[in-house]
Amino acid sequence: MLYAIAWRQVFVDKSAKAMQQRIVGRLAPSPTGAQHVGNARTYMIAWLSARSQNGQIVLRIEDIDSPRVKLGAVEQIYEDLRWLGLDWDGEVLVQTRRLFAYEAALNKLKEQNLVYPCTCTRSDIERAASAPHGEHEGPTYPGTCTFRTIQEAESLTIPYAWRFRTEGRHCEFSDRFHGKVALNLADIGGDFVVWKSAGTPAYQLAVVVDDAAQGVTEIVRGDDLIPSTPRQLLLYEALTWSPPSFVHVPLVVGPDGRRLAKRHGDTRLCALRDRGVRAEALLGLLAHSCGWLDRPEPVRLRDLLPVFQLDTIPKHPFVLTAAALEAIGYNV
Ligand code: GLU
Ligand code: ZN
Repeated sequence: MLYAIAWRQVFVDKSAKAMQQRIVGRLAPSPTGAQHVGNARTYMIAWLSARSQNGQIVLRIEDIDSPRVKLGAVEQIYEDLRWLGLDWDGEVLVQTRRLFAYEAALNKLKEQNLVYPCTCTRSDIERAASAPHGEHEGPTYPGTCTFRTIQEAESLTIPYAWRFRTEGRHCEFSDRFHGKVALNLADIGGDFVVWKSAGTPAYQLAVVVDDAAQGVTEIVRGDDLIPSTPRQLLLYEALTWSPPSFVHVPLVVGPDGRRLAKRHGDTRLCALRDRGVRAEALLGLLAHSCGWLDRPEPVRLRDLLPVFQLDTIPKHPFVLTAAALEAIGYNV
């Protein structure tokens, strides 16, 4: 009898471990613009990380920000990913077809009284907020509408968003690239929007609902999204889902240290292709920038599997120069 219990314990432990080890990574491009060299570097790392752990990788088209979606950008994403040699498992998830799932999550937040209707406009918030704010985060929400109950939404005659109550909380998480990250919600915008007044889910909610639905266990993305992670962790907690692990990797910047933009030349992947760059040459440059190759020589994505490691990737952004692009065959 005792023996049977002990054996059962081992069995349970083993299957729990096997479940833990089933890695699911993801690629989550937005068709709001073309994919560029920076996206390629992040996708390369995400794919190699999942595949080198024998994991799966899923694809999601993040088109929920519909007004900004560019015509033909979705087709372009598939072309770019295939060109790089990236593949994925299972069905592609498309956000604009999943309104029902986001609504269900919003209802779960309402039931717990974790959200409230907010009628503030952007300029209301800017006027009322006093604290200085970061470049991307906007001002910290001053709490104007926190007094409102869920029920009051029904009597509102002006458009309103749903905001999540952060209650000045502090968040710590362990990033597999950056190590321990500690942030106060108040320093990254305070109470945040989960549902926009336009009637669509905000990025923070959609991304959590989708990562959970796709069974994602490992998120590899640009480190510009670090301030989003505490908000997403609050949503995981509220929705009682177990959060994935996070790997935030440095961005690709131009020689001026700013994130890739038009002024740095055309670094869209479609432009590279048009100007004679082969995918293997770009992958070689990027793999070299991650410390996996001694020289930026052409390489196929799958040939990077044995040399992939997170530890060798520099902690600072990768500076892409015109000379580096020319060296991989970019015809100016
Ligand atoms: N769709 C976002 C982007 O392309 C990524 C969001 C995420 O990785 O959480 O910037
Ligand atoms: Zn408000």
